[in-house]
Amino acid sequence: ASRYGGATAANRGYIKYKDPNAAVEERVEDLLTRMTLPEKLGQMCQVDRFNFSFFPTGPEIFTKYMIGSVLSNPYDTGASPLKRVAVSNTMQKLSLSTRLGIPLLYAIDAVHGHNTFINATIFPHNVGLGATRDPELVKKIGAITALEVRATGIAQAFAPCVAVCRDPRWGRCYESYSEDPKVVNMMTESIMDGLQGSSPYCSDLKTKVAGCAKHFVGDGGTVDGINENNTVADNHTLFDIHMPPFEIAVKKGIASIMASYSSLNGVKMHANRAMITDYLKNTLKFQGFVISDWLGIDRITTPHKANYTYSIEASINAGIDMVMVPFEYKEFLEKLTKLVNGGYIPMSRIDDAVRRVLRVKFSLGLFEKPLAEETLAAEFGSEAHREVAREAVRKSMVLLKNGKTDADKVVPLPKKVKKIVVAGQHANNMGWQCGGFTLTWQGFNGTGENIGRNKALHLPTGKTRGTTILEAIKKAVDPTTEVVYVEEPNQDTAKLHADAAYTIVVVGEAPYAETQGDSRTLGIADPGPDTLSHTCGSDMKCLVILVTGRPLVIEPYIDMIDALAVAWLPGTEGQGVADVLFGDHPFTGTLPRTWMKSVVQLPMNVGDENYDPLFPFGFGIKT
Ligand code: BGC
Repeated sequence: ASRYGGATAANRGYIKYKDPNAAVEERVEDLLTRMTLPEKLGQMCQVDRFNFSFFPTGPEIFTKYMIGSVLSNPYDTGASPLKRVAVSNTMQKLSLSTRLGIPLLYAIDAVHGHNTFINATIFPHNVGLGATRDPELVKKIGAITALEVRATGIAQAFAPCVAVCRDPRWGRCYESYSEDPKVVNMMTESIMDGLQGSSPYCSDLKTKVAGCAKHFVGDGGTVDGINENNTVADNHTLFDIHMPPFEIAVKKGIASIMASYSSLNGVKMHANRAMITDYLKNTLKFQGFVISDWLGIDRITTPHKANYTYSIEASINAGIDMVMVPFEYKEFLEKLTKLVNGGYIPMSRIDDAVRRVLRVKFSLGLFEKPLAEETLAAEFGSEAHREVAREAVRKSMVLLKNGKTDADKVVPLPKKVKKIVVAGQHANNMGWQCGGFTLTWQGFNGTGENIGRNKALHLPTGKTRGTTILEAIKKAVDPTTEVVYVEEPNQDTAKLHADAAYTIVVVGEAPYAETQGDSRTLGIADPGPDTLSHTCGSDMKCLVILVTGRPLVIEPYIDMIDALAVAWLPGTEGQGVADVLFGDHPFTGTLPRTWMKSVVQLPMNVGDENYDPLFPFGFGIKT
């Protein structure tokens, strides 16, 4: 024995956590024993990277506070993959320069492709993927999303959202694959294979990303579909409807799980120890880390952040391992330190949290390859990726009505006619067809103008690459066919274009995200109702396409519509819509949700008593 504590000459200076050949669990334990309290608490903290770029004190985040993770929020619309790789590496080098050199984990909301980034491939939102019922396709989408996220130097996606939306009045319904847990389970399995790969916590740092299943648990079951509301759940509702996708994610080794803003039977999920620690960690044996939602712990109290010390204590003791504190990390760390030193949060709880974060970082290979490479830039938004997105769009299209009688089919539409009319604002708006969580949180309108429901929450954005539905129609028809676009039809439109062979009317919802999307009426957004009555009421044959994140109240118009199809929120590749309209590919999509006649029927889900929808779950005319 010597002052090296018994080390032999051969292993003197050996640092186990740095040894790539040592087992992950041994490396975790070795590193944990070397860490001071501030180093541990830093690992439990995730800040917004805007902190770093906007404030001169930025680098301190890594060097002084030793923050373990950063996120980019959806306003952080990247200029180019390579620029973001450089940003990522600058932050990473600061983390690596600290005493123990623990690498940083960088996360982003990539929920339908790498949606925060301009010119990325944007896929249909989850509701559309649910309509495809095609798990192989969804796996490909996960893999492409992972590649594009990787190409920008980011290691984790806040995806998949595995919510089982039971009420379309909920503003996040489009983030849910289906009202039916069987469909959500199937898609959870596939998207995870694509995003993370088949190894637990993701061990392919080159082409895959760590996932984050959200929002645990019952986010899609809140009373009246009100976002962040309480979910009232008996055992059947909890364990047969909302929990199964999380069980699948855990079995497949999901790297992290995000707590829901909502409550479960009156208990805020961010403070729900029975569900997070007793059930998720102890019963399901989840080994990754539980992350809070954005300012999620603040919302434990009403009003928000009324007692921050209490919020920190309750959430960490409930089992939250990493807290998203976008900006006020100093206050968070100060209060957390006091709580630990005062014995209000046991050291064993802190160690459990840090272990979980480190486990993911080791498994990801971040210790061996902390710096992002520039080699994937060519993959970003590539033609091959767009082809898959286009396939997803056509497979997500659901045909709900095709002609007033069987003999009178509208679809497939002829490509070679004298003239067709395309009507409605949604026909030519990239932002609207992408929906929320695309180049800003609420979504954008493709022209740089702010037009969502909550204008204050919009930042201007430019155009992104892609094809609108109108552009796709123009490309699809015969060159001799005249395509007239009428953005906002009026009484004269029908008269003016009475010689048109048919009209394609595209109406739906304006973009929104989260609470701003909660709706009591589920009506077609203005001027959609006028657009419909000025086009479909006449002699012109009209085919209506709905661009929407959920079923809308269409029953009052259904008799005047000749054909009806749902495009959901298809993303950038509008050509998928034209592919099925003109018969180059068949309609194969199937409703992932029950289509109500009116909102008074809600909530109404497949299997309910007195089920009386306009179109049932699983419906979809095949061509
Ligand atoms: C949402 C999460 C998202 C997070 C980070 C929150 O508002 O609820 O789904 O991952 O923001 O952007």
